[in-house]
Amino acid sequence: MNPLSFSRIEGQDRAILALVGASARKKLHHGLLFVGPDGVGKRQVARALAASTFCASPQPLRLDPTLHEACGICGPCRRMLAGTHPDFVEQSPDGRNYKIEQVRETISVTKYRPAEAGARFIVLDAVDLLRDEAANALLKTLEEPTGETHFILLTAQPHRLLSTIRSRCLRVAFAPLADALVARVLVAAGVEATAAAGAARLSGGSITRANAVRETSAYANRDEIARAITTLDEASMAELIALAEAWTKDKEAVRPMLDLVRALVRDAMVLRAGLPERRLHLDLAPLIDPWSAGRPLQAWLGVIDQIEQAERELLGNVNPRMVVENLMLALRRDSV
Ligand SMILES: [Zn+2]
Repeated sequence: MNPLSFSRIEGQDRAILALVGASARKKLHHGLLFVGPDGVGKRQVARALAASTFCASPQPLRLDPTLHEACGICGPCRRMLAGTHPDFVEQSPDGRNYKIEQVRETISVTKYRPAEAGARFIVLDAVDLLRDEAANALLKTLEEPTGETHFILLTAQPHRLLSTIRSRCLRVAFAPLADALVARVLVAAGVEATAAAGAARLSGGSITRANAVRETSAYANRDEIARAITTLDEASMAELIALAEAWTKDKEAVRPMLDLVRALVRDAMVLRAGLPERRLHLDLAPLIDPWSAGRPLQAWLGVIDQIEQAERELLGNVNPRMVVENLMLALRRDSV
């Protein structure tokens, strides 16, 4: 299947139609802010959108055959696929945050006309990690649009952006995917149906997360982790340290483990809020229900902050064992 086709992207028809429609009318905004959870197709849409404008032989779009998408085989499409198209730039933060030099270099190309196409696309992933100087450098460029350069900023956390950047961009919402859709995508990728449904439930509507859940030991250990997390108050310090060590042996398993802890906390919170039917892990109710009662709702919100803090630290290359140890300490009732 054509890897630059929008047909590969599930659940984002509304965003796709709006973007491709605007592009066809030559009204594509110069600053686009794609907002939605990780792993719902923001990056894929950015690539397919750029390719659809570069393509030498555009094909009818399945969602609306009066619109067009990239063919996937012409010269420009091949350069997109090889990552060598001169008018398509994709950047992720170099380390914990975007560095000012990185942003300056990226936006310096806007001084020149696009090399081969009539437009240029600059995609910045995790744009909430643009801080201070780096954010201001981008802001300056957004304030002086050239018409030929389109910035596509991707974020799962729009509230962390400078409001001045937000206000310069057109916001495009990417919805979390329905569990059933996540499960279907996993099944299509060869995952057994029960495992797919379980991973989908833990995914928060994100295929990336569903895959992470599925691929690592965290999901296989779900019950063990849930039991340990919900009984941390009774664990000795030595037991806690041993658990943190065991759970971080496989570095790849740490993030899904945090996702699982977050899902357990979410269950505790919805129960505390009097919405027991919203729980994800009904089968873990015997563990989660008494655990939930141990804190008022406000304190559970504090726990969510601790989990987010842990996720940031992991991205910032803090030692995973320390991150998990600290989180477990924070999860003990006497500490929150
Ligand atoms: Zn093409």
